[in-house]
Amino acid sequence: MKYGRIITKERLKYYEVADNVFAAISPNRGLSWANAGFINKGKGLVYDTFFDLPHARELKRFCVEMGGRAPTYVVCSHYNADHTWGNQEFSDSVIIMHKNAVREHFSEDPKAWDSIIREGQNGGPGEQWIHNELKGFDLTGVRWQDPDILIEANTKIMLNDMEVDVISVAPSHSDSDLLLWLPKEKVVFCGDVVFGGAIAYSAKGIKLWTGALDFIINELKPEVVIPGHGAICGLDFVKECKDYFETVMSEFEKHYDEESSALEIAKRCDISRFLHLLEPYRLFINILALTNDRRGVPTKPDWNYFAEEMAKLKEFQDQKYGVQSWDPMSSWAE
Ligand SMILES: [Zn+2]
Repeated sequence: MKYGRIITKERLKYYEVADNVFAAISPNRGLSWANAGFINKGKGLVYDTFFDLPHARELKRFCVEMGGRAPTYVVCSHYNADHTWGNQEFSDSVIIMHKNAVREHFSEDPKAWDSIIREGQNGGPGEQWIHNELKGFDLTGVRWQDPDILIEANTKIMLNDMEVDVISVAPSHSDSDLLLWLPKEKVVFCGDVVFGGAIAYSAKGIKLWTGALDFIINELKPEVVIPGHGAICGLDFVKECKDYFETVMSEFEKHYDEESSALEIAKRCDISRFLHLLEPYRLFINILALTNDRRGVPTKPDWNYFAEEMAKLKEFQDQKYGVQSWDPMSSWAE
């Protein structure tokens, strides 16, 4: 892939993917190490604002350095903390979200996450796992910043002569997913609709999600794809994400039985083609959701349980496949 300017700062590496269109890429260290975007045209637009204020401040400084001012518009890919908790740093901008984000965000509490960052090493296995994934973040002062504009239909924003389409693909990864599509430049910012290591919480969720991936593949046909986490990619990776979900579904169908636990079923599922994706043992949560679905049981977000079982699947996968350790800096490779 050819880039214009590539500018490395302390926390983020900025790639110019089209004229004055920047992808702000984090090292892919795991949970919450998200990406964002900045379009330095017209009144300026930021897509996503990261998990903590140090990342948001660095992004804002970059915008001012490039454009001479803070952006007028902030569009959030969805409600999740790692894409919205920097919003207060942009409180003078017009913050745009899908209307469902306002309801969904109540499931995430900055104080609870802050205490896991500070003390999670003393907690149960789930808290320890999250604590290790989040090392390097500082949630001091984070609070939810309410959006200014709520949308549910596709919306066009003009940045001088540049057309920017905000496209709703909700529900897919969440109930509030918005893509940012630049039709002339053929660049799409996807938030967590595209990233390696995806977790869905129901069979219906997986189906809707693959539908959104189909839309990107067959309708948008982008040349540059910025995922919610990990390195800038192209359509091949979007197809791979879809292939992953289809493989999870078909392996589940092959290996499901009434008596087995989700972990036992997950161990039988062959995802050996996808071991290069971040934390392939996340498969456990997908298989648990499908198993519970089949048995008519809801899947509660119990991270202590998830982490205990994921550790067992990790050990199994490491032995069976010799899984290589993940390089977080691979997202900065070029
Ligand atoms: Zn995310």
